[in-house]
Amino acid sequence: MRNGCRSVADMGLLRLAHVDISAPDLELAAAYYTQVLGLDLVERTSDLGGDRIFFKCWDERDHHCLAIRYDPRVGLDRISFKVEFETDLDELEAKVEAYGIAVRRVAKGEEVGQGESIRFQTPSGHEMELVHDIVKVGGRLPLVNPQPVPPLDLVGIAPPRLDHCLILAEEVGEMVHFMQTCFDMYLTEQVLTSEGHQMGAFLQRSGRMHDVAIIQGPNGGFHHLSFHLDDWDHVRRAADILAYHGVPIDIGPTRHGISRGNTIYFFDPMGTRNEVFTGSYPADPDFPTITWTEDNLGRAIFYYEGKDNGRFLTAHT
Ligand code: FE
Repeated sequence: MRNGCRSVADMGLLRLAHVDISAPDLELAAAYYTQVLGLDLVERTSDLGGDRIFFKCWDERDHHCLAIRYDPRVGLDRISFKVEFETDLDELEAKVEAYGIAVRRVAKGEEVGQGESIRFQTPSGHEMELVHDIVKVGGRLPLVNPQPVPPLDLVGIAPPRLDHCLILAEEVGEMVHFMQTCFDMYLTEQVLTSEGHQMGAFLQRSGRMHDVAIIQGPNGGFHHLSFHLDDWDHVRRAADILAYHGVPIDIGPTRHGISRGNTIYFFDPMGTRNEVFTGSYPADPDFPTITWTEDNLGRAIFYYEGKDNGRFLTAHT
């Protein structure tokens, strides 16, 4: 609530909270995500929702930004967004139900590291969660008189926070309509086919360029989760760390046309694509939508290469 009165724009989604995925080897996942990516392992549990590990970035204060559940199959369980107020759950539940989608309440105590939430299936076939009450575990820096630089004992790439994720949808426009109608998300950039259909869309509520991106593909598909880095030097250092550990790099370091960000894509040992990302722009609510046309798709995706690497648009979980 800002200045004592609440508008529609004040309501609802703050940002991406966490991404929940599955993987067939939790020991390998723990080793990779702590030693190579450099996340903090917050908790491991086997009581709620199976055998799971929860990770956070060093500058994040909430319980986790990534949960990995044991499953023989690699895939996405859900994407979870944080809402500003507990009452947002009621208001947004009503909006999702009015859209014609069933909503399930998850009671406090049913999920690790957080209180009550709502879950539902998006038109793109993904499970989406909204939550307000997340356990605070604190960051690596104090909130009073902190050092302005990262802690010196970080291991691996050590991104300060989760940035965004990218999901697939058969009908990108349908998913964009849902996210805009129910959650007042802003469309920062889009890719249009020659017929004018959306084949890519970038949506935000947090003021970042995007909290979630959607590209055309099979419903329920998951493309990548992305971690923020502070600058280009850190992207270069990340590439060194990935090469040192023999992590398969998908592409990069390079630059996107879309978002203008610098990036590296790589795969965790189980096959989920990760990204480290920096150098994009802040997006105000009145930021005008940037449109890319299909004939410029190569430059939009990878500005330096000017084309897809033959895998980027097709490989996903
Ligand atoms: Fe990305």
